[in-house]
Amino acid sequence: MNAVVLKPGRDKAVRNKHHWIFSGAIRDLPEFENGAVLPVHSAGGDLLGHGYFNRKSSITGRMVSFGGESPEEGIRGSVERALALRAGLFDPAVTNARRLINAEGDGLPGLIADLYDDVLILQVATLGMEKLKPLILQLFDAAVRPRAVLEKSDLPARREEGLAETEGHLAGERVDKVRILEEGIPYWVSFAHGQKTGFYLDQRESRRLVRDFAAGRKVLNAFAYTGAFSVCALRGGAVRADSVDSSAAAIALARENFELNGLPADSGVFFTADVFEFLREPALDHDFIILDPPAFAKKKTDVVAACRGYKDINRLAFQRVRSPGLVLTFSCSHHVDEGLFQQVVFQAALEAGRRVRILQKHRQAFDHPINIYHPETSYLKGFLLYVD
Ligand code: SAH
Repeated sequence: MNAVVLKPGRDKAVRNKHHWIFSGAIRDLPEFENGAVLPVHSAGGDLLGHGYFNRKSSITGRMVSFGGESPEEGIRGSVERALALRAGLFDPAVTNARRLINAEGDGLPGLIADLYDDVLILQVATLGMEKLKPLILQLFDAAVRPRAVLEKSDLPARREEGLAETEGHLAGERVDKVRILEEGIPYWVSFAHGQKTGFYLDQRESRRLVRDFAAGRKVLNAFAYTGAFSVCALRGGAVRADSVDSSAAAIALARENFELNGLPADSGVFFTADVFEFLREPALDHDFIILDPPAFAKKKTDVVAACRGYKDINRLAFQRVRSPGLVLTFSCSHHVDEGLFQQVVFQAALEAGRRVRILQKHRQAFDHPINIYHPETSYLKGFLLYVD
């Protein structure tokens, strides 16, 4: 029979609608081509659903439908539910950029889909999802009618799947830059020079927070990317917002975002620099520091080194921020959970010898839902800290 059969007692996760199947849970694998969708049975013969399988991947199988639903019905249903979840929650007159599919968070392992105005960007992480791409494109074409569809699958993790990193044009017009609107604020998103799918949509709610807390402050936006937090700070009444990022291309776009928002050239200085070094410079006079680094822990084995990195930048920020001041600090490493991140911030506070209080906790924006059956979809956490 052309089905995957799980070992006795190893079917609980899939019955509980977790999407992943590790090789150790599998009793029988049929003949199949990597990336194929196969039915998944319990040892007792129950049909648990369908998933795509790849022997090369450490996660051998990823479920796309559960129970008796066909894979195509499952995928179609997940896309429909993802669109329904977001419908009505955005006013397109003020916010026209959003995540439509957040991988397992929306029941579709290996797929990210972001909509920037009418430009759809796909990011495909797995061979199985690569093979399902024609179906996905067809569903989005019908439901969203994008002007252009691009792919930004420049993920090193694709190698493990036997896939090369790729990016390019999939359908519609050729676009390499688009102007989006988020909560009434315009930003440029560059697909040619951007990171991830172009913009950190997951920080939308934190950008609002910065706008709310920035009035009268001198803000340092560390790991600024294209300056979105700086723009929000200034739109919220900050006296100044300086931006630091190691990427010259990101800083160039940050300058363009200032222009787009009509912000005067003297409202902030742009630095192309390493934050670890920059925070050691003596001449800082900021009373609001934002730390939004890239994921320091990409895998579980990176956690110790990552925590050292998080501790260093937080300690430096606590030492450098004016008193009383604010520090908005983030970690987007899934492997560093909120409890561990708080421990790291505690250590940093202790070493800096500053009094630090948590005013608010933050997470990824709501269009990046966390699937309660698949909690690995939680990755971004942040604390707004009062430091004196
Ligand atoms: N806060 C941004 C997103 C930050 S993403 C936003 O809301 O849009 C992380 C950024 O850190 C990237 O732009 C990357 O270029 C930058 N980066 C990574 N390592 C760095 C380092 N050591 N010093 C400075 N910038 C760094």
